Amino acid sequence: MVHVSDQVVYLMETTGLPLSVICFLGHLFVFHLGCFLFEVMDQSGWLLDYKEFRGDQRRYWALLPQVCFNQFFILLPSMYLCEKLGVAFDSIDSRQQQLRQTIWHYLFYAVWMTIGHDIFFYLGHRFLLHSSWGYQLLQHDLHHSTKASIALSSMYMAPSDYVLEICVPYLVPLCMLKADAAFHFVAIALGSLGGMYEHSGYNFCPYFPGLSTMAHGMHHTRYNCSFSDGVGSSNLMDGLFRTSYECVYPKWSGKKSIRESKDAQCTYGLN
Ligand SMILES: [Zn+2]
Ligand SMILES: [Zn+2]
Repeated sequence: MVHVSDQVVYLMETTGLPLSVICFLGHLFVFHLGCFLFEVMDQSGWLLDYKEFRGDQRRYWALLPQVCFNQFFILLPSMYLCEKLGVAFDSIDSRQQQLRQTIWHYLFYAVWMTIGHDIFFYLGHRFLLHSSWGYQLLQHDLHHSTKASIALSSMYMAPSDYVLEICVPYLVPLCMLKADAAFHFVAIALGSLGGMYEHSGYNFCPYFPGLSTMAHGMHHTRYNCSFSDGVGSSNLMDGLFRTSYECVYPKWSGKKSIRESKDAQCTYGLN
């Protein structure tokens, strides 16, 4: 049976590009395709019944230059540097053979990445970006100028913010693994889907654990709750520090959709 790592290595051999760049291009394709499809949904109004957050005035083309700058000038060099330093994107074993790992490896890695990502994301987000000195200095206010109602805004942030919210929580846990080419490729391609979805404003599965976009939507509107990354994250740190929106605002306890509160519908313009 053909292993996905073989396909990724084939891509590397035919293009001559290093693994980090191949992974970056895979991520770039998935991320921008997803954001474009969300934008088509927004423009067409097909699924507006599922749109819970609608506060953004600036649209797709206004956010795109900063997003692309972050991806090409911060994420790509960071990934390439990790490969050059030999701390990630190195999928060769001690006999110089390509690693071809199993589903059990991937399951373990995926669990670790959701936990590790949560730890580094939460620490940087809550204690640096939302500190009294860091919010302005590290320019987290730029990301908070968006209202979690446009998918592309998941990567709309200042470079300092992008390093702390995107690069560190993704690359540091990854560097602790010895993953094969397939995992490296799929992890970043799929890893951006959660952020994209929770910034889209849609909430398709509000009552399915881990798939409600309420937490990050509440973070964008209330600032002082739900510091974990929401969809796709283990969200253990919010539980540990009791900072989920349900803890900080007890009247929201058990509510997975803003449609469950008439106050909120007025607040967010959904009346
Ligand atoms: Zn924030
Ligand atoms: Zn956000």
